[in-house]
Amino acid sequence: MSVRWGLIGASTIARQFMINAIRAQGEGEIAAVMSSNPERATAYARENNIPLAVSTLDALLGADIDAVYISTTNELHLEQALAAIEAGKHVLCEKPLALTSADARRMVAAAKVAGIVFGTNHHLRNAGAHRAMRDAIAAGRIGKPIAARVFHSVYLPDNLQGWRITKPEAGGGVVLDITVHDADTLRFVLGDDPVEVSAFTQSAGMAGSGLEDGAMCIWRFKSGLIAQSHEGFTTKFAGTGFEVHGSEGSLIASNVMTQKPVGSVLLRTANGEEELSFDREDLYARSLRQFHAAIRGDCQPSATGEDGIWSLTAAEAALQSANSGKAVKIDPKLGSMN
Ligand code: NDP
Repeated sequence: MSVRWGLIGASTIARQFMINAIRAQGEGEIAAVMSSNPERATAYARENNIPLAVSTLDALLGADIDAVYISTTNELHLEQALAAIEAGKHVLCEKPLALTSADARRMVAAAKVAGIVFGTNHHLRNAGAHRAMRDAIAAGRIGKPIAARVFHSVYLPDNLQGWRITKPEAGGGVVLDITVHDADTLRFVLGDDPVEVSAFTQSAGMAGSGLEDGAMCIWRFKSGLIAQSHEGFTTKFAGTGFEVHGSEGSLIASNVMTQKPVGSVLLRTANGEEELSFDREDLYARSLRQFHAAIRGDCQPSATGEDGIWSLTAAEAALQSANSGKAVKIDPKLGSMN
């Protein structure tokens, strides 16, 4: 089986990670790229060895492709995904799926009706470190999980200091950019769903136009577990991490909220400390491998459309909480509610 991909968006993430991840699959091929700007489309296609460059969605969807990868700015995901679904193409869409959870639900519902595969590109689920933590928790190695802490405040690189910090209408801000990943990773590692969030956000000097460039969230999960997460664009030296503390042990992972298969996971119990080993496969390549398996009907994408609805609902609730000063309930069927 070959899978011919069309890229919607001549983006940094596609250039840095996804083109290689698609080509790392024996059956994966990139047939076309679409940019809204014809010159950029042509230059991007030439630089990345893509045979066809187009500048309209119709031209891309009319090409000989099986699937699309959407990595445009966030306000465009909805209409592009709906058009691709209507054209019968499988869709791997970047996070956040849309600007609102209501729009994300529309996309996922349309994909279900059309019977195509729809995935959300939450790469962190594909990290060996997070999979090792999830397995250790599921095997009872820390007893009953009680609390979790996510450290995911980074420094936004100069080349990405564009729409994320200047354009609310494009879905800028750290919450739609990073809190969605943290909500998803917490759900995945804990095997539990958040039901409520309380958040503070800040503008610490990088983001303009009223956008936030830092957030601290406190989450309550269905099981009663509580978690905190810190997302930021402005801290150069913080490092990243993920901890889960249970009745019989703690998992302490360092340098794991990243795009690379790096970092370490320590299990600490009454028996002492043990470094967990885990696979170091490229996160995006693993996501693609599973997406292709989903097209064959073997499994679900590693993060489904429903997972994308969950993470966006959680992020939307965090923003609502920061604005209202109140805790906000999270319900993926209904959205966020004060
Ligand atoms: P970019 O800013 O690189 O690309 C977004 C869009 O901006 C492109 O589609 C392109 O429009 C336009 N653009 C890009 N570079 C230029 C340029 N030099 N001049 C003019 N326009 C330009 O965004 P990212 O790659 O950082 O993010 C894209 C999407 O991917 C977002 O939804 C983001 O949230 C997500 N993302 C996900 C990650 C993950 O790990 N899952 C990591 C990073 C981003 P056009 O195509 O019309 O030319």
